[in-house]
Amino acid sequence: MKINGLIKKARWENIPCECGNKIIDSFPIKECLHCCFDQRWKSVPHKDFKVNDDQRDKNNKLIKKQTRIVKEITLVRGNKYEDVIGWTF
Ligand SMILES: [Zn+2]
Repeated sequence: MKINGLIKKARWENIPCECGNKIIDSFPIKECLHCCFDQRWKSVPHKDFKVNDDQRDKNNKLIKKQTRIVKEITLVRGNKYEDVIGWTF
């Protein structure tokens, strides 16, 4: 998997985790920016994956069922924290 838009250290990575030892003091119950952004980054696919790529005619009738392998994605980052707000392929 090739990931476009990687940066050495995003701003959010410099925000320390503010979670405590108790569940109630920890993300996601506690609003911890670091863990919130960390979770989003971890939800980005890091391995190639398959998507449906069925061929359809202009009436949306199925011509051929097929899949293709996504080997490259591009990260979409927020301006403020440089956190991953999404990704496209
Ligand atoms: Zn945290």
